[in-house]
Amino acid sequence: MASKVKKSSQGFLRKHVLDEGLCTNCGACVNICPYQVIYHDRMVQLHNCDLEEGKCFAFCPRTPTDLAALKNFIFGPDNLTLEIGSVKGYYFSQAVDTQLRAAAQHGATVTALMELALAEGLIDSAIVSSCDQDFLQQGKVVRTAEALREKAGSRFTVSPTVAAFNQLIAQEGCKVGVVATPCQALALAKMKLNPGWEDVAKINQLKLVIGLYCGWTLSFDKFTKLLLEKNIAQESIIKMDIPAGKNVMEIYSDKGIKTLALDEVQACIRETCNYCMDSTAEFADVSVGSARFAGGWEDVRQWNQLIVRTNRGKELVDMAVKKGVLELREAPAESLQELKEAAVKKKKDALKNIIRKSGSVKNLLYLESHDPAVKKYLEVEKKRKKEK
Ligand SMILES: Cc1cc2nc3c(=O)[nH]c(=O)nc-3n(C[C@H](O)[C@H](O)[C@H](O)COP(=O)(O)OP(=O)(O)OC[C@H]3O[C@@H](n4cnc5c(N)ncnc54)[C@H](O)[C@@H]3O)c2cc1C
Repeated sequence: MASKVKKSSQGFLRKHVLDEGLCTNCGACVNICPYQVIYHDRMVQLHNCDLEEGKCFAFCPRTPTDLAALKNFIFGPDNLTLEIGSVKGYYFSQAVDTQLRAAAQHGATVTALMELALAEGLIDSAIVSSCDQDFLQQGKVVRTAEALREKAGSRFTVSPTVAAFNQLIAQEGCKVGVVATPCQALALAKMKLNPGWEDVAKINQLKLVIGLYCGWTLSFDKFTKLLLEKNIAQESIIKMDIPAGKNVMEIYSDKGIKTLALDEVQACIRETCNYCMDSTAEFADVSVGSARFAGGWEDVRQWNQLIVRTNRGKELVDMAVKKGVLELREAPAESLQELKEAAVKKKKDALKNIIRKSGSVKNLLYLESHDPAVKKYLEVEKKRKKEK
C-alpha cells in the first residue's frame, strides 16, 4: 500500500508545492536541513526526509497559512487594509545622497535605510541579493555601507535570499536586516509565527525586513535565452529597469542601453508568480517600490513609494528623516488609491489563475477560502461573472 503523505512533511511540500510549480525559490527551506539545496533558480530535494512535521513545510510561503491571523500577530489589528496590508504611513521618498541614488535602482530608499540601520547598530548584518557572473543570484551577508552600495539595484530573476538568512542565524548573537520580495517576507513572518522551541532565539535575531514591491520574477533559463537571442551578454549587464508607461525593459551595459519589448520579457515570468496575491511585501516592516507621479521618468525614477507598516519601520524612517538621510514627500491620496487598485488587480488575477489551475473554486491551492481578502475578491469575481 502506498504510504500516505503527511500534511506537514517534506513529502507534502514536494507534492503540493514543487510538483505543482508553486515554489518561489525564496530559500526558506534551504540551510535548515541537508536535504534541500538551490540549483540555478530552483530548489531541489536531494533526499526524502521521514519527519512528519518539517520546518521546510512550516516556513514555505506556498503552504497553507492563516494569513489574517499572521497579519494580526505581526501588525496587530490597527492600520490593516485588505488591499495592501498594514499602512502606518505612505510617502514618496528618496535618499538625500545623490551618489547613492546614482548607484541604486530608484530613490535608493532601500539601501539608505539599511545603511542607517547598520550605522546605528540596529542591525549588524544585512542580507541583500548578489548577482554572479552567470547572472545567478543568491543572498549575501554584508556589514558595511560600501558593500551595501555594491549590491544595490534590482535584478528581476529570483534570489533565494532566505537561505542566506537561515545560514547566518545558525550562529547566535547577530542582529539581522533582510531585503525581501513579498514571498520572502512572508516566509520570514511564518518563521516568527512557527519557530520550533530551539529556533526562538535564532528567529529573534531578525530585527528588520525591508520589503520590495514585486509584480513577478523571471525564469533564469527563459530570460537568459532571451538575452542570448537579443545579443546581450549577461555578464555585461550593469542595470535593468522598467520605466513607467513605456512597455519596455531597459538593459544597461558597458555598451549602452538596449530595450526589450515588455511582452517578450513577460513571457519569461516564473509560473509561480501567477499565483501570488502580494505585490507590496505585506509582511515587511517597510515596503519600497518605484514612484508613480506626473512628470518625466528621469525625475520620477529618482523617487520611491514607501509604505511604513510597523513601529520598528516607523522609528527607522523617522530617524532617517531626522538625520538627513532620507527626504519624504507627502504622497497624494490618489497615489495610494492607485496603488491599492493595482494590488487588488494582482490579487484577483492570482485567484483566477489558481482556480484555472486547480479546476475548482473549492481548491485554492495554498490559500484559505475564509481569508478575508480571498473571500472578498472571490465574491467580487463571482458577481462580475453573474452580471456578464
Ligand atoms: C524581482 C523584482 C520585481 C519588482 N517589481 C516591482 C514592481 O512591479 N513595481 C515596483 O514598483 N517595484 C518593483 N520592484 C522594486 C524596484 O525595482 C526597486 O527595488 C524599489 O523601487 C527600491 O528601489 P531603491 O532605489 O530603494 O532600491 P536599491 O537601494 O537599489 O536597493 C535594491 C535592493 O534590492 C535587492 N535586490 C535586487 N534584486 C533582488 C531580487 N531579485 N530579489 C531580492 N532582492 C533583490 C538589492 O540587493 C538591494 O539591496 C521589483 C524588484 C524586484 C527585485
